Amino acid sequence: MGLLYYCRALLRTGTPVALLEIDSPAHTFTAMVTLLRMYAEVDSLAALVRNTREVLSLIIKLWVFEIWHTHLSTQLAEMFRDSYPPTSAGLLHFYLFTRRDPDSYSAMLDSALEGSLGRQGIALVALEHIRRNTVACTQYQKIPVENMRTNLLNLTCLHSTPLHSLLLSQNSVRIVTEALVVITSAPFDSANAETTADCVQQICEYLHKYIASDGLNSLNQSLEVGLLVGLLKAHPWLSVKKSAFDVFTALLAAHVPRYFIYISVLRQVHKSIDIIQQLGLKDAMPEVCLEVWHAFEKYAGVRLNLASAAELGLASCRGSECSEPSSMRCSGCWEAAYCSKACQMAAWSTHGAICTARMHGRQNGIPPDLGEEDIQFALRVAQHDFEENKAAICAKWTDDGKLPISAGIDYSMFPPTVGIDPPSVVREQMSSDAAIYTILPQGTTEKEYYMCDLGLTRGAGDPDDETIKVVIQMVGTQPVPAFFRVN
Ligand SMILES: [Zn+2]
Ligand SMILES: [Zn+2]
Repeated sequence: MGLLYYCRALLRTGTPVALLEIDSPAHTFTAMVTLLRMYAEVDSLAALVRNTREVLSLIIKLWVFEIWHTHLSTQLAEMFRDSYPPTSAGLLHFYLFTRRDPDSYSAMLDSALEGSLGRQGIALVALEHIRRNTVACTQYQKIPVENMRTNLLNLTCLHSTPLHSLLLSQNSVRIVTEALVVITSAPFDSANAETTADCVQQICEYLHKYIASDGLNSLNQSLEVGLLVGLLKAHPWLSVKKSAFDVFTALLAAHVPRYFIYISVLRQVHKSIDIIQQLGLKDAMPEVCLEVWHAFEKYAGVRLNLASAAELGLASCRGSECSEPSSMRCSGCWEAAYCSKACQMAAWSTHGAICTARMHGRQNGIPPDLGEEDIQFALRVAQHDFEENKAAICAKWTDDGKLPISAGIDYSMFPPTVGIDPPSVVREQMSSDAAIYTILPQGTTEKEYYMCDLGLTRGAGDPDDETIKVVIQMVGTQPVPAFFRVN
């Protein structure tokens, strides 16, 4: 009854102000959270809450108010000076997300917050819950890993709803990486080792799923805030949980190296390897983790060798007529880099529209096109790899023995695969009997295709094997020509 009383007070106007109409929002909040937590312990009461729409609506609102109301958070912080204040995150998880039916909880979120917040607002609240945990990690003696675990679980559940792209567009990957860095910077404490290991595993799984799903942007942001340092510092918890170690390995052995064809990624990796060296992080690592890291470093080294020192330095300023090294980024797209505020302001008249379009695209799950610098470098890598694989490709052509002939390297796979079956988008563009192509990943679903037509067409009466011989000879002796985009 008490709860329903509060619910009605809260839902009376339907606006967030209602909570503040009750004399002390922090006391009310604490009372409600505590009560609902107690109910969760008793099956019949928990079932009652789950089946009472008004109360579920209240829980969702509490979860939003906790973030949205500075007055409430200030009061809570005052009431709980030395410990982490009570939070509604666990209630949301227990009463809503254990329904295991994304459509039903998505509809409930929508109806509870109807008109007051919008989906973008809900995405922001979910991420702010995690960000506050991250800040709290440096604030309190005892790290709130328990809460962090719950918030990470909530985030994962929200990804099964239409909020998916909105979460990514609000830089969820960076926020989750920051959490990893903070958690793994704390000393190992056996009292919370299991929970921390759970967090590490969840973060690694999250990154494995989403680190590049809206393009290179999120991967680069993650690397920039210390992804590699965070992963290397995670080893004490990886030994607590074997499954966490497996995701760690998948990230470093394949998932991140797949993007080593892009200079923007290599630049960040190069910087991180330096930092890891300076911090002496490798010294403390156990052999199993070290093996994974050495393979990563070795593979990075192969690609870093193809880049010049200038390319690996700071990106140059996007300001018009300025090519100074830039150390600041546009906070809207996190893509354009500038040397100064003045350059950014001057460039806004042209960058503004691009920046807004990019953000809009990300919100709708469309990864932005690859940057020119990244494409040029990736095509250079492709040319290099073709040169290395020439003999194998020519041998495959000889064995296959039919026209048209083509060969390509698919970098959306890891390790990259060399094949002689062109995808239809390339085949449609072939105007002669021979072509080579390459496939570059952009996000986890999009790909960009590049090809060069070798310009050889079978003359009248020429048998297949004659043409094949000519192509093999041409490819075997000449440098790989430049590629052009076909999709
Ligand atoms: Zn921008
Ligand atoms: Zn500049």
